[in-house]
Amino acid sequence: MINSIKQRAKKILLRLKTEYPGSKCSLIYQNPHQLLIATILSAQCTDKQVNKTTIQLFAKYRSVNDFANADIEELKQIIKSTGFYNNKAKSIISSMKNISENFSDKFPNNLKDLISLQGVGRKTANVVLGEIFNIPGIVVDTHVKRLSLRMGLVKNTDPGKIESDLMKIIPKENWIELGHLFIDHGRAICSARNPKCPNCFLADNCLKINIP
Ligand code: SF4
Repeated sequence: MINSIKQRAKKILLRLKTEYPGSKCSLIYQNPHQLLIATILSAQCTDKQVNKTTIQLFAKYRSVNDFANADIEELKQIIKSTGFYNNKAKSIISSMKNISENFSDKFPNNLKDLISLQGVGRKTANVVLGEIFNIPGIVVDTHVKRLSLRMGLVKNTDPGKIESDLMKIIPKENWIELGHLFIDHGRAICSARNPKCPNCFLADNCLKINIP
């Protein structure tokens, strides 16, 4: 059973790589703390809106210390358009304070340290580990969750379980790119509300779970 899922996953990945060459993270950042902040802001928000917001944000606050010492009300106003801005502002200031106090000589570069920061879960940590440090991890965002379930690669709906189930069927060297490829396909064809199955190049290898 697991071997047939592995075979399907392999074919799916190969095809996605052909269709989306150069697939990569669409968040705009210049350094690790900017990527961490952009990823916190991307919860329940599009990367496009985050990138619009961070132009002003990263111009006003440049260093980790600038964010750690930011006035929370001013910060909230700038990030308001990304939604859930009260919690996001708290997470940004708290995580940057923690980095400034405990990781001033070296940005946290492992899962344990990253998820110890307020507002940083496995998804955000894996984005930073993959993008900044090239450490393999599977980013389970809303697209990866939806596509993995629809394709019948996983059965669990909990993101942590999806991550570990995918790790069992996807070779480690593909973990980082899997997130980018699934996100591209989710945006282009397999959208949440209107998956275009009749036109999808993955149809032969997809179980189309819960697609009417
Ligand atoms: S066949 Fe349908 S459900 Fe499967 S990946 Fe394509 S669009 Fe998504």
